Amino acid sequence: MSVREVESIFADIVERARALDPANARKWFDELKVIHFDGGAIGIGCPDEANVRFLDQNCKTSFTRAAQQITGHLVTVEFLVGGTGDSRQAEQAPRPGPALHPDYTFDNFVVGPSNRLAHASCVAVSQSLGATYNPLFLYGNAGLGKTHLLHAVCHEARHRVGGAAIQLLSCEEFVNRFIRAIEQGNLTEFHSQFRTADALVVDDVQFLREREGSQEEFFHTFNALYNNGKQIILSADSPPAEIPSLEDRLTSRFNWGLVARIDPPGYETRVAIVQKKAHLRGLPVDDEIAGYIARQVQANIRELEGALTTIYALATTMHEPVTLDLARRALEGQIKLATKPISITDIIEVVTQYFDVRLTDLQSKRRSQSITVPRQICMYLARTLTKHSLEEIGGHLGGRDHTTVMHACAKIDEERQSDPKMQALLNELTKQITQTFLV
Ligand code: ADP
Ligand code: MG
Repeated sequence: MSVREVESIFADIVERARALDPANARKWFDELKVIHFDGGAIGIGCPDEANVRFLDQNCKTSFTRAAQQITGHLVTVEFLVGGTGDSRQAEQAPRPGPALHPDYTFDNFVVGPSNRLAHASCVAVSQSLGATYNPLFLYGNAGLGKTHLLHAVCHEARHRVGGAAIQLLSCEEFVNRFIRAIEQGNLTEFHSQFRTADALVVDDVQFLREREGSQEEFFHTFNALYNNGKQIILSADSPPAEIPSLEDRLTSRFNWGLVARIDPPGYETRVAIVQKKAHLRGLPVDDEIAGYIARQVQANIRELEGALTTIYALATTMHEPVTLDLARRALEGQIKLATKPISITDIIEVVTQYFDVRLTDLQSKRRSQSITVPRQICMYLARTLTKHSLEEIGGHLGGRDHTTVMHACAKIDEERQSDPKMQALLNELTKQITQTFLV
């Protein structure tokens, strides 16, 4: 095959992959290049490792399926850094530090009256860690951009100071790692990892309330960093004083620096966000449709994005242009979808089907790999997708106690972080679980 033929086939594959999974399609797919294309495997070159991670975690299935459909053969795909014209990047080893979401940058963040202070303080902090607002505490309801801003700070700080040691993690992860360090007797390593960082960024600190020993640990970590002039950035769903059972000494420390609130965005900001998200995905969106979406979805930006995705997914599957009428039909389905909460039974159904095991196996005492893995995945997904307590989750899976569930969640969470295959599997299952609501 000539180079031109390969390129043209590859362009078709990318287009098909976009159509198969519009939610995860991005404009920068245009920059992807074929690195190798031989028999059963395609190597796809990406601009940098953040793109590779995004593709590995979200798009492996759609690209593989697309490649198989277009070529008519069983092919596997592999995402790599390089081949995109910048040979410097191709030789770059993956940068150490947290896995940042490639979409969550300042460039992709729409600033409006509702988030202006939070945005400005994040920009200031990212430009000189430890030197402006310390700690910086962001709070606001779910889906208003806290995690996005925390990642943007890390992107920017890492860009400015190549070797900056930045720790970004969710509060739950901090607590889990702390508990594991105690169990495995390597607290010293844990301390040195967190207490010597240039910046510690902890998302959703309202979950600190769940375990007391971790508040003590967090207190000492905070002091060590603060006294050394290192940056601390925190987010939560409410201001420090309103986080239930947060120790007073932590509440007061969280108030030492700047506390910035994020409010729900107004109509104009929502329109701009819809347009930004559409642009990021390479989708054309006219003002009328953007305005319609912004009027329909008001409280949560994640849902705003979901609405956009649903509309384009419907347009793709129906082979129809995106019109106001189509947008209406798409969102009517979506509103139903949003009102029904996911249950543990839904999760168990998808997981047992996927692994081809029976519910009674999951509930049994059997401890073989083929049973424990799906069982632990059920627990993890129930923990992340529902509001059930650890006890309730354990109850559904053969009356296991809450520490068993907690360990299972920590274990899967750890694997998810170290193994892109696990992340991809969890994404796939989540997609199937949430899709059961579309019908
Ligand atoms: P939170 O952490 O507050 O629950 P996230 O940061 O996860 O919210 O944001 C949810 C989604 O909304 C993300 O996809 C994020 O990119 C998007 N989002 C939130 N605020 C903005 C904004 N101002 N501009 C662009 N996207 C935003
Ligand atoms: Mg968040």
